[in-house]
Amino acid sequence: MNRQELQKKIISVFEKSRIQIHDNEIISHHCEECNLLKSHFKNTEHLQLQGDMIKAHFDSLPLLTPKALRYFFPNYLIYSLENPDSLVCEFTICQLIGSSVRDSPLSQFQLFNHEELEVIKDFIVYLKNSEIYAEFQNEIDQTIETWEIH
Ligand SMILES: [Zn+2]
Repeated sequence: MNRQELQKKIISVFEKSRIQIHDNEIISHHCEECNLLKSHFKNTEHLQLQGDMIKAHFDSLPLLTPKALRYFFPNYLIYSLENPDSLVCEFTICQLIGSSVRDSPLSQFQLFNHEELEVIKDFIVYLKNSEIYAEFQNEIDQTIETWEIH
């Protein structure tokens, strides 16, 4: 699968789910940082999160609720495919490794359906096989382990 095909597949898989989200479902914590994230991401149509917003919140994925992650994550995948050398890409990969010691690494992905999880695996395999992501090789190998890709 080339990049364009993968982008199309990501969009079509997540479009099918027709997820909706309420403003009060975006974050579960209410510090200044989380509240800012909520104010920036609320009222975003599904799959319409804009690049400048993603860039401004390159490290915000762990702050999202599982529902909000399912809603906003596809745009981070697309952005990472279009901007391989970005901080967004680096932190998107980190999100796939999981950073929480307390929870299972994939617990934030608990609401994703089977097809959505499969297309995330396609994304990981694409990164693994693509030379332009070579600098993230160690992190990508960790995601392969977390996601049990063989
Ligand atoms: Zn917070």
